[in-house]
Amino acid sequence: MSSVPQPPPPAVKPFNPPLTKDEQPADIDIPDNYVAYTLKKEKALPPIGWHNWYQELNYLSFAILTVTPTIAAIGAYTTKLRWETAVFAVFYYFVTGLGITAGYHRFWAHRSYNASKPLQYFLAVAGAGAVEGSIKWWSRGHRAHHRYTDTELDPYNAHKGLFWSHVGWMLVKPRRKPGVADVSDLSKSEVVRWQHRWYIWLILGMGFGLPTILPGLLWGDWRGGYVYAGALRLCFVHHSTFCVNSLAHWLGESPFDDKHTPRDHVITAIVTIGEGYHNFHHQFPMDYRNAIKWYQYDPTKWFIWVAAQLGLASHLKVFPENEVKKGQLTMQLKRLRETQENLTWPQETDLPVISWQSFQDQAQKRPLILVAGFIHDVASFIDDHPGGRHLLVKHIGKDASTAFFGGVYDHSNAAHNLLSMMRVGVLHGGAPHGLEDKAIPPSQRLRVARYSELSSPYSSTAQSDGEGMLG
Ligand SMILES: [Zn+2]
Ligand SMILES: [Zn+2]
Repeated sequence: MSSVPQPPPPAVKPFNPPLTKDEQPADIDIPDNYVAYTLKKEKALPPIGWHNWYQELNYLSFAILTVTPTIAAIGAYTTKLRWETAVFAVFYYFVTGLGITAGYHRFWAHRSYNASKPLQYFLAVAGAGAVEGSIKWWSRGHRAHHRYTDTELDPYNAHKGLFWSHVGWMLVKPRRKPGVADVSDLSKSEVVRWQHRWYIWLILGMGFGLPTILPGLLWGDWRGGYVYAGALRLCFVHHSTFCVNSLAHWLGESPFDDKHTPRDHVITAIVTIGEGYHNFHHQFPMDYRNAIKWYQYDPTKWFIWVAAQLGLASHLKVFPENEVKKGQLTMQLKRLRETQENLTWPQETDLPVISWQSFQDQAQKRPLILVAGFIHDVASFIDDHPGGRHLLVKHIGKDASTAFFGGVYDHSNAAHNLLSMMRVGVLHGGAPHGLEDKAIPPSQRLRVARYSELSSPYSSTAQSDGEGMLG
């Protein structure tokens, strides 16, 4: 019997075609201890000093960041400012600034909303007018900044000082490669690729061409357009957006989390077109807002919202309010806890338990008064008692609970708090029924407790000692 040769089975096509290099997420194969591993394995470039700074300079950025302000300064000194040009320069500052904040930052780096193609092209072109690198380069650095905030893998690590996080990091060659961050989604974007391809022409056209030509054609101010709407406006856009990395990690409050350097401040918001609520932003980076209150200054958020009303943007992401409030509460409790820890509290444990007879005997020698089961030595207070010395003297060696809690005068919270500081003992047999609540001074009715302090008084140590619950 001869076997009939079988045709080879058809090659099974993979369901998903393999990803090309550009489509492969950059961080797909990184080790779990990536940060420690990279810091150990990859050596940083040497620190910059007088002997090597000229070799370490990033000449392109250095030139852009020094020549532009020079042109602006000389130009402004020698060129009359026309009001039409002034208004246009401010307007163009917002257009190109929004290209960075609403485009590069909130749309491409964070994907905090969906933008229609026309809006994407507008943002890509406007953002190019800010001359801060292409969308892909910018977003890659920014995603690393969020993932490795305040570490050596954060390209603008705020721990290296205000100057470094503002411009220092661009003026010299990066001391380390920024930590890995995936931008494969951006590699697939037609708009991002288009901007990358035409980037040089776009920065020349949007950075200097358009702001010169428009005032030139419309009201004949070519030179003013070049100086004020071109160079000077560019300096402002540069340092405005750089403040997001510097000022926003340095000035203000941390209402949501103080683990890292990002801060919230209205001044930062004003100079950055609304990117100043940076503590919120680092907590909720995919939220299209930076400012969550209506009265806080966030024109970038307003711009995105208006774009959504016009049908140009959609799916504006908002973090659940409940979780935002948890962040705020955590920080509020933390501050309350600090206040609580800086106060002196009445002794609660280790007070001697004293019999009625012993209380009587000792009250012969010192002014002891019983209130709510606690014995208090009122010697330090007896002459300061607002109701007069005689009322205290009258209760020495007696239970003054009824008189204290309203029988004679319903004492203030302050009085109750102060009284509890004079505790010297506990009466054997405790307080009479109905006074349990009164034993707690008002300042201790609510307390900020750590989770480890909330365990039962019959804690695990008692059980592990084999004493059990009744031990
Ligand atoms: Zn930041
Ligand atoms: Zn961000």
